[in-house]
Amino acid sequence: MHDNQDLTLARVARVLDERLRPATHSHPRPLTLAAHRVGGEPIPVADGLAAEYLPAHTGDVWGRAWDTTWFRVTGTVPPAFAGRRVEVLLDLGFDTNMTGFQIEGLVYRPDGSPVRSLHPRAQWIPVVKEAAGGEPIEFYVEAASNPVLLDYVPFQPTESGEWATAGEEFLYRLRRADVTIFETEVFELVHDVEVLLQLAQQLDAGSARRAKILFALDRALDAVDLQDVAGTAAAGRAQLTEVLASPAAPSSHLITAVGHAHIDSAWLWPLRETVRKVARTTSSMVTLLDEYDDFIYAMSSAQQYAWIKEHRPEVYARVKQAVADGRFVPVGGMWVEADAVLPGGEAMIRQFLYGQRFFRDEFGIECRGAWLPDSFGYSGALPQLLVGAGFEWFLTQKISWNERNVFPHSSFEWEGIDGSRIFTHFPSMDTYNSQLSGDEVARADRNFKEKSVGSSSLAPTGWGDGGGGTTREMIARAKRLADLEGSAKVVWEHPDAFFERAKAELPEPAVWRGELYLERHRATYTTQHKMKQGNRRNEQLLGEAELWASVAAVRAGREYPYEVLDAAWREVLLLQFHDILPGTSIAWVHREAAERHARVSAILEGVIADSLSALGVELVAPASPVEPVETAKLDRPIVLVNAAPVAQSEVGAAAIGRPASADKGSAAASGAGFVLGSDTLRVEVDAAGHVVSAVDLASGRDAIVAGERGNLLQLHQDFPNLWDAWDVDNSYRKMRRDLDAADEVRLDGDAVVVRRSFGKSSIEQRLSLSADGRALLIDNTVDWQETEKFLKLAFPIDVFADTAVAETQFGFHSRTTHDNTSWENARFETHVQRWFLVREPGFGVAFANDSSYGFDVVRSRRGGTVVSDVRFSMLRAPRFPDPRADLGVQRMRFALAFGADEARATELGWAINTPARPARGSEVAPLATSSDPRVLISAVKLADDRSGDLIVRLYESSGGRATTQVSVDLPVSAVRAADLLERPGELVEYVSTTEGLVCVDLSLRPFQVQTLRITR
Ligand SMILES: [Zn+2]
Repeated sequence: MHDNQDLTLARVARVLDERLRPATHSHPRPLTLAAHRVGGEPIPVADGLAAEYLPAHTGDVWGRAWDTTWFRVTGTVPPAFAGRRVEVLLDLGFDTNMTGFQIEGLVYRPDGSPVRSLHPRAQWIPVVKEAAGGEPIEFYVEAASNPVLLDYVPFQPTESGEWATAGEEFLYRLRRADVTIFETEVFELVHDVEVLLQLAQQLDAGSARRAKILFALDRALDAVDLQDVAGTAAAGRAQLTEVLASPAAPSSHLITAVGHAHIDSAWLWPLRETVRKVARTTSSMVTLLDEYDDFIYAMSSAQQYAWIKEHRPEVYARVKQAVADGRFVPVGGMWVEADAVLPGGEAMIRQFLYGQRFFRDEFGIECRGAWLPDSFGYSGALPQLLVGAGFEWFLTQKISWNERNVFPHSSFEWEGIDGSRIFTHFPSMDTYNSQLSGDEVARADRNFKEKSVGSSSLAPTGWGDGGGGTTREMIARAKRLADLEGSAKVVWEHPDAFFERAKAELPEPAVWRGELYLERHRATYTTQHKMKQGNRRNEQLLGEAELWASVAAVRAGREYPYEVLDAAWREVLLLQFHDILPGTSIAWVHREAAERHARVSAILEGVIADSLSALGVELVAPASPVEPVETAKLDRPIVLVNAAPVAQSEVGAAAIGRPASADKGSAAASGAGFVLGSDTLRVEVDAAGHVVSAVDLASGRDAIVAGERGNLLQLHQDFPNLWDAWDVDNSYRKMRRDLDAADEVRLDGDAVVVRRSFGKSSIEQRLSLSADGRALLIDNTVDWQETEKFLKLAFPIDVFADTAVAETQFGFHSRTTHDNTSWENARFETHVQRWFLVREPGFGVAFANDSSYGFDVVRSRRGGTVVSDVRFSMLRAPRFPDPRADLGVQRMRFALAFGADEARATELGWAINTPARPARGSEVAPLATSSDPRVLISAVKLADDRSGDLIVRLYESSGGRATTQVSVDLPVSAVRAADLLERPGELVEYVSTTEGLVCVDLSLRPFQVQTLRITR
């Protein structure tokens, strides 16, 4: 036989796109259009329906960026359509390549009930399944004219990311508003042909299966009259019955399709638009669930359900019913899909607590798995936190984005820093937006790493990022792929069912130890500094507010502000979303987030002041680690309010007490430079404001490499290949400018003040010693006016360190300072919580921050030995998606401790972030203390269930085994261990002392997080 396979492939592709698909809707008749332009923020549905409408026509332009236009579509079903399935086709100017990134609409009936969403890949509205003819048609469409920001030439700076700068021109043109017949048989033919064509494209050119499929496709097209597709579709399909009926091989890969729309809670659109995106997508998804019995849809993020509940109750009622039916599946158990390395440990716990609480209260269920397909790396603390919150599995696919190294497993056990393990799956299709194309289905099979023992992978299926969700076309593909020779099999299935099978297939899964570092998006530890600062400040303030509100409730009978704290937590948790905290959204999102962070801070400061006043304590100044209040100037006894779990100025953890007399040290001119000195530390600053010596007096060691300069600002060119706000590429290191010159270096009280200018930017630094004289503080105020630059603050440290130790949530991990392997080489910029440390046996230097998360450490060889070049990452200036990211005044503080180990670094990290606050009033003893200083009490609060129980959370901070005695200073009737969701577990034995303390002995494994629930 002659081989005509290539000709057949080309023939089928063209006929499918140009003749078969367009024939799905036939006999179009124009409808009448009218429009109401809102000209501002979205209006309630009732107002949209009742608005004044003006005539509109196809060909009209409409929609400035971010505006809403309500369209009314009216007409009558033609009598000739009797007996046929009728749909409206409405093309508002859609671009089929931009689903979720441009126009979207939600369709309503005249009574305000939602019908479904409109988007570029779903331009139809159902009218009637079997028309009588003559039925009236009346629909209303709330259409959002969202601008395309990630265009065909991606990552171009745009002014369209804010209402005010987006411009007034209309972006879209109405193309079509017709009533049509939906040709069911043509729809089925289209999917028969499409699935077989895409399968043939994946099969080996020499395979018999491919030849048979192409032969059948050729015959099918011979049977279809292209001038009467609807009339001949059945004849075409008849030629394909046999090849479609041939079953898959017994060893075929099995793909669990889960209907999904990964809707980013904010990104290239503001939060308010996400509220509508979620309502649009879910209204379509519940309609699909009604239509297709085997379809399953999963949605994450309690916040998104809460938005529908508040803003679109009519959609929510249908979602609630579908959840009760087990078809609409809440997944993830988190408040939002948060970033998974930047939030603090307690905040990660609250993501689970608030997420699971919502699902329990609203639907009576808890999610069994955590679902974070798109976050930018996953900390090694997560396995313990997931298991401790009751999760049985974890899903992500993001590590497939690695620039260099291919992750070796698809399904495996992930082991955290404390040794906890959780079963984890990476969908081998490498996407969270599957369309079930032939290419994707083949990739899932090919990429699956455990194929020698298992055969199951999961595919989140639907238009995502900007929403849209699953389509009837995807469902049609899945139906044909259920059991098809040559293809992996596809089944709609609940993710829990998938994980049960995947676990059963792998009785001895491989283990991956430690963090899941993403080899990409390394700049998200730094970009949009105000996101980082607001998050860190509010995490700390929430801890302080809960602590003092608990003390006030227990000691002074003050009512605990549950509602205020819940609202503040939910706000902070929302702003940890994986495009907000990382700094990768449009200007609108970041402006609004900074405002929201500031409001939360003000509310929490109010809670703290109010709780303290119930205890007879009055704050005299805002907390600041660098501006201590002069005690002599105060007329009443001064106390320090210490919310940290470490002593500060000899005031114990979580206590209010009299500080020891401060040894703040002094600053003095010395030769051409300056000296900052105390009993324990001597720091020399040269005339240009650089730190040229830092001697730990106890050991006599100078931490700065001889003859070199610390506190050196370094400015790099920073223009990544892709993803400006997200990525910094290793090549940035090659172009560097050291900011040597100072405009001014002078003494100011106990501080040395350094001012420098570069380009249009300037920086002022205050260098001083901490109140106890043991740490060097650097308070930076930068007026940042750069373009595509990366600012680092460098210290050449005379320490031979193979690893840098960095704090993560509830503990720390080590990273090599060399790059022997490609995995180590890829980690040229890494993340930290509050501190990192370089050390050799007997001597180390700790670096703490109050609001920044990026750093790098490079080994260098100088003077015959290896030293450590250590740098804080300060600021970047990417131009996409926010063309003015980070411009303006930014402030951040750093602290350095010399002669430090992990314990000292931990203490420093707490102190710079939760500094003791000066106050007037009486001393207050802590509610709970831990006898072993390695075991820190990181949270004290009243229980989430409002029973009045006290929750005390502790963690082992050193990475070793610890035994501690926890003493609780209140009348107690029971002490229980609890999980991270505060669910009471076993009773814990305690003894009461004659002083009225209740004492509990605890043994903790390395980095263990332990929650105690204490009934008063
Ligand atoms: Zn995302």
